[in-house]
Amino acid sequence: MNTYYTPGEQSRVAPSMRAGTGRAKEELVDWLRDAHAMEMQAETMLKGQAARLENYPQLKARIEQHITETQRQARDVEGCLKSIGEDTSALKDTSGKAVAMMQTMGGIVMGDEVIKGALVGYSFEHMEIASYTVLIAAAEAAGEHEVASVCERILAEEQAMAEWLSVHTPEVVRKYLASKEADVQAKR
Ligand code: MG
Ligand code: FE
Repeated sequence: MNTYYTPGEQSRVAPSMRAGTGRAKEELVDWLRDAHAMEMQAETMLKGQAARLENYPQLKARIEQHITETQRQARDVEGCLKSIGEDTSALKDTSGKAVAMMQTMGGIVMGDEVIKGALVGYSFEHMEIASYTVLIAAAEAAGEHEVASVCERILAEEQAMAEWLSVHTPEVVRKYLASKEADVQAKR
């Protein structure tokens, strides 16, 4: 029997995979905790970025919209953990591989250049896309279809943000270069 399936095609999950639900659930819980930590880090990073973007109002507005989405994502991931019977009281103490990676990236974004922020932001969204893609598959394998559908909705928001950044990064670069050129001219 074919055990491959895509999110939403739960009927194709093979019975042999359902037998492994215990292990899948353990992994799912770990990864949901990592995702929650990732969203907390995302909120910090996005707020730091938004504060430095007064000259880029369109980018700033989109980031502020995504801060609101990110805060809800963190609550929804916490809700997923609660829905499968996990204690979430210690969530903020979680440290995982995702957090370590985000902290490295956060260090880069502390520089004041909008372009570094664009690089890190773009990378971060793709890290999130990968994380929720993993979570959807893990949730389906664990038989947690509600968790999978929450993760699918979050994934769509991360994809929309990544797409927006993809479309708008070139104009941010052009504006940044123009402002640098204006600085040079002003000093002459
Ligand atoms: Mg997110
Ligand atoms: Fe995001």
